Amino acid sequence: MSGPAVTDGTARFSPGPSRGRHNSDVSRPRRTILLVEDETSIRDPLADVLRSEGFDTLVAGTVAEALEQARRDPDLVLLDVMLPDGSGFDVCRELRQRSQVPIIMLTARGEEADRVVGLELGADDYVVKPFSGREVVARIRAVLRRVAAPEPSDDRPLEVGDVR
Ligand code: CA
Repeated sequence: MSGPAVTDGTARFSPGPSRGRHNSDVSRPRRTILLVEDETSIRDPLADVLRSEGFDTLVAGTVAEALEQARRDPDLVLLDVMLPDGSGFDVCRELRQRSQVPIIMLTARGEEADRVVGLELGADDYVVKPFSGREVVARIRAVLRRVAAPEPSDDRPLEVGDVR
């Protein structure tokens, strides 16, 4: 049922069983994912999975590149915490000052503080390393479904929590 999980930085992600019908759903608009991760052993296979799942994929390996690529208006950001020139939290904080783009943090196992800080800074979700490509894609689709839900009319108070 589950695909092979990534057990360390060198393992490969699995795009899941091949259905031979990738990108056949033309009624769905293509989504652009910005993947911010400096470890190429994680980033490259994950980018491959995202592309094979039909996402346009931008990649960045530093805080500076992330902020630069974010100007291209991605539909969702996957954001690593530990980056060579700073923290993914800085990216999250910066992005939140100008947009509500969905953000999923990529956090290290056991770093509960990282997950809490990310959510408090406005991240929408997180995945814990090591993760499988399939798990990340499932999280992406879930978050995109949530943000695509119809906005409440403006005379009602905004409800935080489940949007069904
Ligand atoms: Ca990192």
